This record gives sequence, structure tokens and C-alpha cells, in this order.
Amino acid sequence: MHSPALLWFRQDLRLADNPALHGVAERPVLPVWLLDDAAAGRWAPGGAARWWLRQSLAALGAGLAARGAPLLLARGRAEIVIPALAAAIGATEVHAGRLHEPWARERDHRVAEALEASGRRLALHTSAVLREPGEVMSGSGKPYAVYTPFAKSLAARGEPEAPLPAPARLRPVTAPPPGEALDSLGLYPVAGEPDWAAEFPTLWTPGEAGAQTRLARFLAGPVGAYATGRNDPGTEGTSGLSPHLHWGEISPRQVWHAVRQARPGPLTDSWPFLSEILWREFSYHLLWHRPEMPERALRPRYAAFPWQPDARLLRAWQRGRTGYPIVDAGMRQLWRHGWMHNRVRMIAASLLVKHLLQPWQAGAAWFWDTLVDADLAANSASWQWIAGSGTDAAPYFRVFNPVSQGEKFDPAGRYVRRYVPELARLPDRWVHRPWEAPEAVLREAGLALGRDYPRPVVDHATGRQRALAALATLRADA
Ligand code: FAD
Repeated sequence: MHSPALLWFRQDLRLADNPALHGVAERPVLPVWLLDDAAAGRWAPGGAARWWLRQSLAALGAGLAARGAPLLLARGRAEIVIPALAAAIGATEVHAGRLHEPWARERDHRVAEALEASGRRLALHTSAVLREPGEVMSGSGKPYAVYTPFAKSLAARGEPEAPLPAPARLRPVTAPPPGEALDSLGLYPVAGEPDWAAEFPTLWTPGEAGAQTRLARFLAGPVGAYATGRNDPGTEGTSGLSPHLHWGEISPRQVWHAVRQARPGPLTDSWPFLSEILWREFSYHLLWHRPEMPERALRPRYAAFPWQPDARLLRAWQRGRTGYPIVDAGMRQLWRHGWMHNRVRMIAASLLVKHLLQPWQAGAAWFWDTLVDADLAANSASWQWIAGSGTDAAPYFRVFNPVSQGEKFDPAGRYVRRYVPELARLPDRWVHRPWEAPEAVLREAGLALGRDYPRPVVDHATGRQRALAALATLRADA
């Protein structure tokens, strides 16, 4: 007779390919999800991520109930609630997928200690990544600081193991303790305030089934032309899997194997896409080895960067009113849909930290609150990459030109017109530089600059010079 086990869901909200679930599937099991904002502190899920989480928990709860073991929802400090629940059902083991966020590691440490004090055990399983950070180290046993050797080393370990099936049935514990109702967790936008999430459901279906549908859609179309399509924000050229991957509704190895099966040729055929999955792995690797990454520059010299915090400039950027159409389209896409195309994330982030000299942490915080895929590893690593302060970063002196980037990647202005309707009637030639359009063209397009749409907050050449001058004040890295 197997003793009961507690299965603690965190960022692995799926039934298939879930090693923690697989490990307890033969035993009476109490599945639990816990809201513990106090432990996460400022890295508790932001508004858009909470919208996602609310629905993802509903989907997970339905899947678990259909298999016979309903999900218990709880709230409170994990080191108190989890051991108490384990004791209540007579479980000697708590199983969970391993998390990599610094706050979550500290919390797991406290939970493990509290469990051990009563003779119980926390068992962590690899679930969020293909390989745990400590598994992929350089020849000298050090963590990789640069992506390419890291990716090569990880790929050289061969294909990831095959995904695990979802259990057909689960055995519930005999007397589960009472839990909270999903709606009492307060995850949705507050009633009465403007519903910024109104359009989210038209784009996103949180949950494991939604993740599989999204993957199938990607494999049926965009994957074939991903190498070029991924840079066109006006079309669906990427997978849209990021929020599903963040919440673990699908595992990276499920994605990996599905892509390999759909495109059975040499690995190089699928590499442009799979290498992005490895960028995700690299972000987790960096976060694990450099837990200061969400807060502080990884390159020491950037600690002295002369940022010029300015609430007015930050607000113009957040609201999509910088006067640079591709940036404003991205920031408005983010607000409306909780997501922004990767190419535009790069251009928008670069404008904030370089042209506007705003600290990258301010941009990362806004993304944290507004992205449905907000992920501490990917977000912090990407912002540091853009800011030039990451270990493997774009050099700071490479300043994206928001006009030429727009003209290159959105030549017909499809993307800009969709999210910045004020500019919809401008001819292609001016859609990325409306301030240069002749008066007659503006009049014809029904656009009064400065009234309907702002002039650029800073001129590109001036912004670029200022950024380079700021960089020149830094000493070389030791
Ligand atoms: P696809 O192109 O289909 O890629 C597949 C998957 O690979 C993604 O779902 C994602 O999990 C992973 N991936 C792709 N690019 C990256 C990358 N550069 N770094 C790490 N993983 C990557 N991604 C997040 O998941 N969460 C974030 O909070 C986040 N913040 C970012 C902030 C900035 C400033 C920038 C420039 C990028 C950020 N990214 C973040 C990375 C990237 O923009 C998104 O992962 C991608 O746009 C998601 O769309 P997709 O699922 O269609 O990606």
C-alpha cells in the first residue's frame, strides 16, 4: 500500500510530461497550488500574468478533477501551509517541479527545512528546462557566460529524453482538507477599473489544451519559414508559446520533440527555432548562476552608468507616445494583448535605455506587469542584453535606429497601422517618419502632429550621441 503524497504545482501547470506528477501517479495524491505573494515580493506575478494564471488554474483544476484528484487552492506562506497540508493527509513526501528564481530557491530551502523537521521530504524534479543549470558547464567546470558555447554544449548532450504521458487516472487522498475558491484568490483585474485585459481572450487560451493548439498551429504553418518570418511583426511568424512555456503548460522537451517530429530532417533545419528554446535555457542558466541578474548589472562597470530617470519620459514610452511609430505600436500591442513581438521588444527596449537614458530596471518592471509571458529569467537576461550590461550582450554602442528598423522589418507599415490607428492613412513612405511628411500629406492623412500623434521625444541623432557620451563615462571592465 503506497502512502499519500502531496503534489505541489507551481510553474508546471500541466498533466503531460510532468515528472513530479509522474513520480506520484501510483499513490493517493493531493494536488495543491499555493498563492504566496509574500515570498515572491516584487517578483510576485504582475497584472497580465495573474490574468493568465487565473485561467490556467481553472484549466488545470478541470483536468485534475476529470482524473479523480481535484486541485486544492491555498494562500499563505509556503513553509507553513505546505508542511501543514502534508501532515493533514499523512504524506511523507512533497513533489514539485524545480524553480530557478532566486526567491523561489530560498523559499524551497525553507519549505524543505520545515518538512524535514517533521520527518518529511521535498522532492524536486526537472520540469521547466531541458537540462538543469548545473548540468551544462564549461570544460573547466565554470558556468558559461556566452550563449553560443553554452548552446553547443547543451546540444552535444543529444536529444532531450522523450516526454512522459499524462496519467489516465489519479487516486485522490481519502479526506482532503478544504481549500479556497479560485475567485477568492483575487487574480483578475479589479472590477470597476477599466478592463485592460478585455482583448486577451481573443488571442490567448491559457492552459495545457491551449498550449497544444498553439503548438499545432505553429507546426502547421510558421515553423517552415521561421528563419525569416520571426522578424516580421506584421504577421504571425513565431510560435506564441512564451506564456504557455512560462507557466509550464507545455514543457520545452514537448516543444523540442514536436518540432523534431514535424521536421524530421537534420537538426540544422529546425535550428533557428530550437536555438530560441536554448536562449530560454541560457536565461535560466544565467539566473541560476547569477541570482542578482533581475536587480543589478552583470558587468560591474555598468553599476556606474549615468542613467537619467525621468517619470515623464518613462510614461511616454509606457503609453506608446514616444513619436517613433514602431516603438509606439509595440508598446500599445503590449498593453492591448499582453505580448509584444520579439523584434519590437528589442527596438522599444533599446529606445528606452539608450535614446532616453532610462534605467533598464524601469523597463523590465513595466514588462513584468504587462506581459502575459513575464518570466524573471528571460526578461532580466533580455533587458541586460539590450542594455549592454549582460555577460553576453549587444555592445552598448550599437544603438538601434527606430526608423530604419521599422522600415526594414515593417516596410508596408502593417504592424504600425494596426496598433497606431492615427497613422493608418499615411503613405508607406512616411509611416515610420511622420514628422518628415510634407504638410499636404499629413492633411490628406487627417493627421495633426503634436495633437493626434506626438513628435519624437528625442531626435535619433541626438539620442544616439547622448547614449554614446554616457557610455564613454564608464571605466573599462576590470
Ligand atoms: P518564438 O520566437 O516562437 O520562440 C520560442 C520560445 O523561445 C519562446 O516562446 C520563448 O520561450 C523562447 N525565447 C525566444 N526568444 C527568447 C529570448 N530572447 N530569450 C529567452 N527565451 C526566448 N521572453 C519571455 O518568455 N518572457 C519575458 O519576460 C521576456 N522579456 C523580454 C524582454 C526584452 C526586452 C526582450 C528583447 C525579449 C524578451 N523575451 C521574453 C524574449 C522574447 O521576446 C520572447 O520569448 C518571444 O517574443 C516570445 O514569443 P514567441 O513565443 O512567439 O517566441
